[in-house]
Amino acid sequence: MDNSSRFTARHVSGLPKSGIRDFFAIVSQMRDAISLGIGEPDFVTPYPIREAAIQALEKGKTSYTDNRGLKLLRESISRYVEKNYNIAYNPETEIMTTIGVSEALDILLRSVLNPGDKVLYHEPCYVSYSPSVALCHAEAIPVPTSAKDNFALTVEALRAAWQPGCRVLLLNFPTNPTGGTADKTLLTQIAAFAQEKDLLVVSDEIYSELTFEGEHTSIASLPGMRERTVFLHGFSKAFAMTGFRIGYACAPAGVMEGMLKIHQYAIMCASIVSQEAAIEALTNGRDAMLHMRDKYRERRDLIVRRFNELGLKCHLPRGAFYAFPSITSTGLDSLAFAKQLLQEQKVAMVPGTAFGTSGAGFCRASFSTSYENIIKACDRIGLFLDSLKQ
Ligand code: PLP
Repeated sequence: MDNSSRFTARHVSGLPKSGIRDFFAIVSQMRDAISLGIGEPDFVTPYPIREAAIQALEKGKTSYTDNRGLKLLRESISRYVEKNYNIAYNPETEIMTTIGVSEALDILLRSVLNPGDKVLYHEPCYVSYSPSVALCHAEAIPVPTSAKDNFALTVEALRAAWQPGCRVLLLNFPTNPTGGTADKTLLTQIAAFAQEKDLLVVSDEIYSELTFEGEHTSIASLPGMRERTVFLHGFSKAFAMTGFRIGYACAPAGVMEGMLKIHQYAIMCASIVSQEAAIEALTNGRDAMLHMRDKYRERRDLIVRRFNELGLKCHLPRGAFYAFPSITSTGLDSLAFAKQLLQEQKVAMVPGTAFGTSGAGFCRASFSTSYENIIKACDRIGLFLDSLKQ
C-alpha cells in the first residue's frame, strides 16, 4: 500500500485540488462532448511564431540563456510594454522572462511574502491565486465582487476586506473567469488605496490584449504606481502560445533582484526555443493576435446573446474569453448544474465555485472554441434547461 503521502508537507496536503482539472479528465473520456471548460485558445500558435521556434532549433539554439532571458527578448518586451502600456522598464535590471505568468507569480510571491503576511485579491478569480499564496505560508484575503457591479472590484469592498498584515494586492484585469475589466477611474481609486495602505500591487495582465471594449490601462502606468507595482504578462493567451510556457515580469529593480534569486536557483531560465518564438510574437505577431481577438469578440457576442435568450442571465464580458452566466434560475447550484449538464448533454462548463465562493450561482463558459461549437453547445444547453422544467 502506498502511504507515501505521509511525507507531504502539511500546508501542501491542505491545498484543494483544482476543480477545473476534474472536468477536463471527464470530458477527455467522453465521445462527442463539447468543452466550454478550457482556459486556453483553440487557435494553434500563428505559423510565423512556430517557424521562429523551428528556425531556432535548426540553428542549434539549444542552450541555457542568461537567467533573465535573452537580451533581445528583454529589449523587445521593453519596447512592447512602453508602446502598449505606457510604462518604461529597463531591460537590464527590470525585466525577466519566466515560464509563463505562472512562474512569475510564484517567484514574485515567494520573494516578497513572509510567513503570516496577507494578500488581498478580488474574487471570483484565477484558480491558482489563493493556493500560490498558501504555498508561501501566507494568507489569501478574498475581496468579493458581485454580478450587480458586473463583477467590478470596488474600493468599498477593498476597504472592507483590508486588515492589518496585508502587504500585497493581486489584480487581474481583464479577469478570469468573469471578463471584468477596470477603467482608468476605478484604477485610480485602487491606486490611491494601495498608496494609502503601502501595498505592493501585482498586476496580472495576461488577457490585456483581449480587451473588447475601450482601452486597456495598466495600473502600473498611473502616477506613483510604477515603483510599487509588478507587471506580469505572457504569451499564452493573446498569442495562443500556452504550450511554449513563456511569460515575463517587469518590476522595480529591488523587487526584481529578489525574484531573480529564486528564479536562478529554481528555474535557471525559460526555454531558449520559446524565447526565440516570443521575440517573433512581439515583433511581427500583432496582426495574427488582432485577428484572434476579433474572432473571440464575435463568439462572445453569440454566446452571451444565446445565454440570455435561454434565460441564463449573462453580463457582457469586456475582455478575456470567458462568459460567466448566472444559473440560479435553474434552481441548481453551480456544481450540480455543471455535472448534470455534462452527464445529460455532454457540454462542459466549469462551476463558478471553482473560482472562489463568490462564484456560487454561476458557471464559466470559455468561448475559445469554434462558432459552430458554441451554437451546438447552446442548443444542447437549451435541451438541458427544457428537461429541468419537466
Ligand atoms: N493568469 C491568469 C489570470 C490565467 O487565467 C492563467 C491561465 O489560465 C495564467 C495566469 C497562467 O498563464 P501562463 O500560461 O502564462 O502560465
